[in-house]
Amino acid sequence: MTGVSSGDPPRLPFHLPSIDAADEAAVLEVLRSGWLTSAGKAAELERRCAELSGVAHGVATNSCTAALHLALMALGVGSGASGDAAADSDADAGAADEVVLSPITFASAANVVLHCGARPVFCDVQPDTLNIDPEALAAAVTPRTRAVIAVHFAGHPADMDRIHEVCDPLDLPVIEDAAHAIGARYRGRPVGSLGRAAAYSFYATKNVTSGEGGMLVTDDAALAERAKLLSLHGMTRDAWKRYSDAGYRHWDIVAPGFKYNLSDMPAALALSQLDKLAAFNAERRRLVELYDRLLADVSNLEPLSRRADVESAYHLYVVRVRAGAPLDRDGLMAALTAAGIGVGVHFRPVHLHPYYREALGFRPGMCPVAEAAGEQLLSLPLFPGLRDADVERVAEACRTALA
Ligand SMILES: *Cc1c(COP(=O)(O)O)cnc(C)c1O
Repeated sequence: MTGVSSGDPPRLPFHLPSIDAADEAAVLEVLRSGWLTSAGKAAELERRCAELSGVAHGVATNSCTAALHLALMALGVGSGASGDAAADSDADAGAADEVVLSPITFASAANVVLHCGARPVFCDVQPDTLNIDPEALAAAVTPRTRAVIAVHFAGHPADMDRIHEVCDPLDLPVIEDAAHAIGARYRGRPVGSLGRAAAYSFYATKNVTSGEGGMLVTDDAALAERAKLLSLHGMTRDAWKRYSDAGYRHWDIVAPGFKYNLSDMPAALALSQLDKLAAFNAERRRLVELYDRLLADVSNLEPLSRRADVESAYHLYVVRVRAGAPLDRDGLMAALTAAGIGVGVHFRPVHLHPYYREALGFRPGMCPVAEAAGEQLLSLPLFPGLRDADVERVAEACRTALA
């Protein structure tokens, strides 16, 4: 039971994956191959993702979160000990390495900073795109800053040239959180090539899915090699090589690594989905433009803006409910839910979640633009397979609710 009475239109979900017969066949082929964990398909996915990003290396992971964690680990981000992280036993919290990121992102980007023993430093966003604000970034950098994570929010690339103007003179690596942005371009250059490394997500709701999965891409051979090692226990040979036709080989543990590898079933699904990436993103763009037209005259509702020098991946259609509207964001959310329309909130600012406030001392007022947006933003359904009539229904429901 959906709670919607009969006679009402069927519930419109916030997201539905686009899985076709080719996707099913790709997974079935792996199931029937006799080899289920990471092997040829994961390796092929690494090459594909590196290629579409215009870089040399890919490291397949079981999530984008894992890819971000590996990127930070491979860069040596830690508790403040320089060089070997284990060497400095009395590094106190005040001396921890810092990683700057914007709070309008998924919490895992900040959580992995903590997993490294480092401290997340939140800096404010630009009001038009909700991407990291280069001026706020410049103010947030300290001598302890070791890396910057720039999310391409909603699929719209961050202002990478200005971010590099801040970071490059300080030799600060920039990691792209490209979970929303596979296939996007910034000033003609592909996302994935715009920083030291980039992380993609193949989570169920992302533009390309493997159910769960992720990918680190980089042009930095040493970073890729370190991330690869750490992705599978810190083991000198992966399973494929341990049990190859050449027979069993001994392996060694050379670092306390993680279990972050991606197996071939999801890798095959992601490969099949990537065949459709251009078509998926083109259809997302068409639906976004339809939303733009239909919502243009709905008062009190403001879609995020897009800049002329980027091609977005159109991952999310985010609107902001203006302050002073007859309904606030939560009111609009309730009205759409009552109309049988699924919605999402991307994102309430990370630094205001209870753990971040209570354990780490973050407070409202630190990132005013992000905090205001966090109260106002709402994501409307957007996925290939959404029909024009669905978009019209959502737009109409917004118009009615805000009238
Ligand atoms: C989904 C998402 C992630 C995490 O992706 P997983 O593959 O689920 O780990 C990271 N950052 C952003 C911005 C996301 O939306």
